[in-house]
Amino acid sequence: MGKGTQAELLTERLDACHLSTGDVFRAAGKRRDCDQSPAMKAALEYMRSGELVPDSTVWEMVRERSHCLLHCGGFILDGFPRTLGQAISLKDLLEKEKLSLSAVLNYELPLDEIVQRLSGRRTCEKCKSVFHVTERPSKGKGVCDRCGGRLFQREDDRPESITVRLEAYERSTAPLIQFYKNLGLLMPIVAQGSPDEILARTIEKMDKLPVGKYQSADKR
Ligand code: AMP
Repeated sequence: MGKGTQAELLTERLDACHLSTGDVFRAAGKRRDCDQSPAMKAALEYMRSGELVPDSTVWEMVRERSHCLLHCGGFILDGFPRTLGQAISLKDLLEKEKLSLSAVLNYELPLDEIVQRLSGRRTCEKCKSVFHVTERPSKGKGVCDRCGGRLFQREDDRPESITVRLEAYERSTAPLIQFYKNLGLLMPIVAQGSPDEILARTIEKMDKLPVGKYQSADKR
């Protein structure tokens, strides 16, 4: 449905390593209270309200998982970087490791559709399958088609958090568009349509990258 779904589909297709900072925080939120560091507790509060987590906490999470960047099938960073500070830290780390980005995918959707997608999203608490109250409803109300688990609405998908998320995006993340445009890495992709249609659009664009920058798994 959104960038997370696309990241998962691409990861499978490219046999890459998927690093989603949002998933890292959500997983941390499920740990027992006593297993959460003070920085992680604060991070979870930011996340619930829709604010961005401070760069220092995000960077610590990414550094702990930096082995993902060395995966032979390449890596997909999902929801990271989200600030200029994070982008600069990532650039420095990649240079140090003699790695590079092939492309930065920017999924574009009109604002009213973003709000509609986020507010109607429902996730299975067991298998994490994603549904939508109108676009992709489950057969049984509030019950996952795949595993029968309970569907819930993410706290940060509630209307008040969505407003905060959109403001945080405009303030902190939108400037990255120019940053990556200047580096010649920005790849805008229309995010309308089904997940498979968006994936096909993504692959079509990536296949046009110069040889050596990226090669899909079936061509390796
Ligand atoms: P996502 O699943 O990528 O939409 O992330 C969910 C939430 O986690 C975001 O709204 C932020 O609160 C937090 N988060 C995830 N990635 C980052 C990041 N790179 N920088 C700051 N906050 C993040």
